[in-house]
Amino acid sequence: MHRVTLQPGREKSLRQKHPWVFSGAIAAVEGAPAAGETVAIYSADGAFLASAAWSPASAIRARIWSFDARQAIDDAFIAGRVRAAVAARAPMLDATHTGCRLVHAESDGLPGVIADRYGEVVVMQLHSAGGEAWRGSIVSALVEATGCAAVYERSDAEVRALEGMPSRTGIAAGVLPARIILLEDGLRYDIDVIAGQKTGFFLDQRQNRHRIRAVAAGRDVLDCFCYTGGFTVAALAGGARSVLAIDSSADALTRARQNVAQNGIDDARCEWRDADVFAELRKIRDGAKSFDMIVLDPPKFAPTARHIDKAARAYKDINLLALKLLRPGGLLATFSCSGGVTADLFQKIVAGAALDAGADAAIIGRFSASADHPVALEFPEGDYLKGLLVRKKA
Ligand code: SAH
Repeated sequence: MHRVTLQPGREKSLRQKHPWVFSGAIAAVEGAPAAGETVAIYSADGAFLASAAWSPASAIRARIWSFDARQAIDDAFIAGRVRAAVAARAPMLDATHTGCRLVHAESDGLPGVIADRYGEVVVMQLHSAGGEAWRGSIVSALVEATGCAAVYERSDAEVRALEGMPSRTGIAAGVLPARIILLEDGLRYDIDVIAGQKTGFFLDQRQNRHRIRAVAAGRDVLDCFCYTGGFTVAALAGGARSVLAIDSSADALTRARQNVAQNGIDDARCEWRDADVFAELRKIRDGAKSFDMIVLDPPKFAPTARHIDKAARAYKDINLLALKLLRPGGLLATFSCSGGVTADLFQKIVAGAALDAGADAAIIGRFSASADHPVALEFPEGDYLKGLLVRKKA
């Protein structure tokens, strides 16, 4: 194994079991490890710290597999991690929930490896050189641990470029069924694993859609960034009087309509708009329309720390407009999936928006990702999804 020695003092984060080694922490590399090859990380004074996957093109130069010097990194090791992750999700799958995240990267001890299950299909994403190097073992282990008919690969995220890896999509094992249906909370969603966003669906919002469903009865709802209708279907199933759903993807809206229809919900309660939310909220404000509940679930506005200021302005903008469109006593469910925007900062942004909107409002609930998206305690970076349920004073 190639030996990688850290700068003096830079072993601290590894001693706290943080799974990343940044390029700036490295003092010396013995030989020239290949992308994804397992290296041994040592402190400046020669103590073994961890075995890790080498990522020569990335600022995160090595991602830890194990802190145990005796642990061999081989097929059996990778399969064991996959099996443990899949087994931990068993309680989250039942007759009314046929999908969940099976492997959540660093927090499941498999840096850069994502796997989502939709019925009998697993969708896999490899975002790290280490995941790429062990691709065959990961695919076999997913098939074995789940008994699923197919593994489809969606390794087409932009982060692959940071690891110097081209994108790859397609069948990795088995055959895709003609239709992939996910049951979430007993509701049916068609999943497009080939052309949908990310792996096809945003499973991280599962418990939050459930909470919205529980408070939707009788409300006029505005679902901004609705994608394939996750919150829209949940709100309608919960008895919402009407939903206006907005997204800038025509494909997503087509699927959202299908999802409403296939749950036996009358389409007359929905209105769909293919539009930019920023512009559309202004139009709605000028038209003096208002709502009893608004969901804001935008895409990641801050992909890296550099984008935080711009992202904060964008979050404030939509939250300010939403708070203006909310009727007295109305609910705002507002989310941020930007890792760089902390829960604390997000709350400050929403508070600033309320102040500028002249809205008297209070937080009555907090949202996070569902239990199938664990956050390893030593890896706070994994805590990306946060949200607030805000009630406007009556
Ligand atoms: N709430 C959804 C997931 C939202 S993902 C669910 O529960 O499944 C974010 C969505 O925002 C994507 O569908 C994307 O097409 C859409 N989007 C991104 N920028 C947008 C914009 N400026 N205006 C409208 N929609 C946008």
